[in-house]
Amino acid sequence: MSNNGNGNHVKVLVLGAGPAGLSAALYAARAELAPVVLTGMQLGGQAALTHTIENYPGFPEGVGGAQLGELFQKQAEHFGAKVEYDLANEVDFSQRPYKVKTDSGEYKADTVIISTGASPLHLEVPGEVELTGRGVSYCATCDGWFFKDKKVVIVGGGDSAFEEALFITRYASSVTLIHRRDEFRAGAILQKRATEHPKMNFILNTVVTEVLGSDKMEALKLKNVKTGEETIFEADGLFIFIGHKPNTEMFQGRLDMSDLGYIKVNDKMETSAPGVYAAGEAADPHFRQVITSAGMGAAAAIQATRFLEAEEG
Ligand code: NAP
Repeated sequence: MSNNGNGNHVKVLVLGAGPAGLSAALYAARAELAPVVLTGMQLGGQAALTHTIENYPGFPEGVGGAQLGELFQKQAEHFGAKVEYDLANEVDFSQRPYKVKTDSGEYKADTVIISTGASPLHLEVPGEVELTGRGVSYCATCDGWFFKDKKVVIVGGGDSAFEEALFITRYASSVTLIHRRDEFRAGAILQKRATEHPKMNFILNTVVTEVLGSDKMEALKLKNVKTGEETIFEADGLFIFIGHKPNTEMFQGRLDMSDLGYIKVNDKMETSAPGVYAAGEAADPHFRQVITSAGMGAAAAIQATRFLEAEEG
């Protein structure tokens, strides 16, 4: 646990170390607020699980997701941010300084920036949980390599599904993208690349209703949503990219949230508790880009700085 010369009482506590949290830490550090970042479970956030990020400005050739996370961290630390490998699990925003309990103790914080991100949604079909790690995966960068020369299925029709499907073509012998409609949300460039790729196939208007296999995944039960026809599709791997849910359970009842669990913020990243800000996917159901999350993080830290300055008079 950090000791900033004042026990564990910090001016700015950042929860989460993805693009939003590390950008907030950079700005708060440059404002000489000695922020502490609690990494949570995933240093670098979801971006660190992405093989290559091609749309973050400044990297015309693209940049590895994990590498970008490391660069964010290094830059924040260079200006005095402290990154702690610790997980927050309870917050008390009823009076200031706010209290945050973690795996290793408790922090008191004058301001808190929440950047806890989001987690992948599950299909919630029989066999999915049992065969996760045995064929079923939510992370192509982590698990793609295991499917060298194997037959892989991707579920989803958004940017994530297309981007990750294209990544897995490096390893797999074939990649079949299954989508519940006949139109995709994915951007035009990704759609073009995927439809032109020789290893890629598409099954449309179809959902996975069961993952089959005992020790490892062997096949999927599919259902055509137009005709009702059920088929068995043999495959070695299933990668699911059907969206995310925000990691905000800890703040339930403590901050105003949308029905879907996103923390409500105004245009200054302020939540319903004074001095508590939210940035990135925990508060953003719309954009979910590295650059928008980083921007929200910077804005949250600027606002926290102004809040502390106003308080100090
Ligand atoms: P998304 O855009 O919400 O797409 C989710 C996809 O999963 C949709 O096609 C949806 O189908 C499908 N789906 C949802 N629930 C399903 C279920 N139970 N069974 C079967 N299919 C289901 O999610 P995403 O692709 O993760 O992208 C999230 C955000 O990140 C987007 O704003 C995206 O632009 C952004 N992103 C951008 C990039 C990039 O710029 N390179 C890369 C990754 C993500 P329907 O279409 O029928 O709803």
